[in-house]
Amino acid sequence: MAYPSIQSTQAALAEGKTTTVAIVRQYLAAIKEQAHLNIYVEVFAEEALQEAARQDKARAQGARMGKLAGVVLSIKDVICYAGHAVSAGSKILDGFVSPYTATALQRLLDEDVIVIGRTNCDEFAMGSGNENSFYGPTRNAADVTRVPGGSSGGAAVSVQAGTCLLAMGSSTGGSVRQPASFCGLYGFKPTYGRISRHGLIAYGSSFDQIGYLAHHPTDIALALEISAGADAYDATAPNKAVPLYSKDTPERSPQSIAYFAELLDSEALAPEIRTAMQQTLENFRAAGHTVAPVSFSFFDYVVPTYYVLTTAEASSNLSRFDGMRYGHRSPAAKDLAETYTKSRSEGFGTEVQRRILLGTFVLSSGYYDAYYGKAQKVRRLIRDQLQGILDTHDFILMPVSPSQPWKIGEQTNDPVANYLADIYTVLANLAGLPAVAVPVASANELPVGYQLMADQWEEAKLLEFIRGF
Ligand code: GLN
Repeated sequence: MAYPSIQSTQAALAEGKTTTVAIVRQYLAAIKEQAHLNIYVEVFAEEALQEAARQDKARAQGARMGKLAGVVLSIKDVICYAGHAVSAGSKILDGFVSPYTATALQRLLDEDVIVIGRTNCDEFAMGSGNENSFYGPTRNAADVTRVPGGSSGGAAVSVQAGTCLLAMGSSTGGSVRQPASFCGLYGFKPTYGRISRHGLIAYGSSFDQIGYLAHHPTDIALALEISAGADAYDATAPNKAVPLYSKDTPERSPQSIAYFAELLDSEALAPEIRTAMQQTLENFRAAGHTVAPVSFSFFDYVVPTYYVLTTAEASSNLSRFDGMRYGHRSPAAKDLAETYTKSRSEGFGTEVQRRILLGTFVLSSGYYDAYYGKAQKVRRLIRDQLQGILDTHDFILMPVSPSQPWKIGEQTNDPVANYLADIYTVLANLAGLPAVAVPVASANELPVGYQLMADQWEEAKLLEFIRGF
């Protein structure tokens, strides 16, 4: 099946071969056909059709169309969209309607993107298999008995199953790259701060970034170009010029690519992933690039550091969900204290409660220095060592995940196994670096991808490289 790109969609519209209404109808039909995959928490069918009709009329009248006219987007259920419900896959936000729109989404809307619905995800984006959602698991379209990855699982399947052209997701530790590779897509997480986080429901604020999933890297490049850049509502999005990522200048000159040989030899890596990585290294070499093994001394500390820091930030970020200000309030509560405790106990799922408890513990006065303070220092060491590698190499090649998609229900009783599987993706978030998952041929029926990481703000170089390759 040939998946349409932004360019092919807009060419078909310009030549009058189709209409925007027809495109939206087709995606809505796909959503209906694929209902068993549990991709969407809510579909904005009427609204999407109305906007499509408005665009067709404007086009017929010769109006200047936005850069994303006719482009159908799904948004992960952590992105605020004014007048629309948003729940972060949680019961605690039940009934909450966002009063404002995320900056990144607003910039896409200003260019005529059409939002088709909000996609299922792990509760508060905490998870790697989309099994922690209040709305139940999303299924992988490549094998419906398996997970699509997480936390942006619905986002990934929305594109995989042809129910939209592009998906907006979010990454705190891999939630765009890992589901993309579990579903055979490109998934891109920019440098920390490249896209404003205003209107993205916070999980770990010093890690969170909005990212995109698509069949074609050029589509990601255009969405990034439009949504990136400074924002008065987010002080961590600096005033740094946004390059023309979508300019079609594939990079074919020799690049230097570092990889961690010890990782490829690791027992923990599934054989299909090892084969895909070795093949990728071979392909890079054959294309004239230099590949060089490098070492990294902190692999044992990567996952613990990530889980100490993100749970600490989450315990603080999620304290605002108190039964008073948003969403679910326990009807059984008799006084103020019970309103807090009962609403939170009823509203949050098991995994979110586990992380709030862990985060509160590592921040508590007796343990702050031993856990939180220490993890902050290790984060700096990890970042500095990666920086050293990127000072002498253009990219770092890694697997995305040690395994291919697992069976739904297979790992839900073992949170530690789930945490450990995040080892390759959390690195880029710990260091704030841009990274992309690229789909490659698999030795079996299940999708597989590799990951490339670049230096801060080098999104253009990364996107040009994967497009040229
Ligand atoms: N799997 C990781 C976690 O559970 C990453 C999730 C994410 O990037 N949102 O925290």
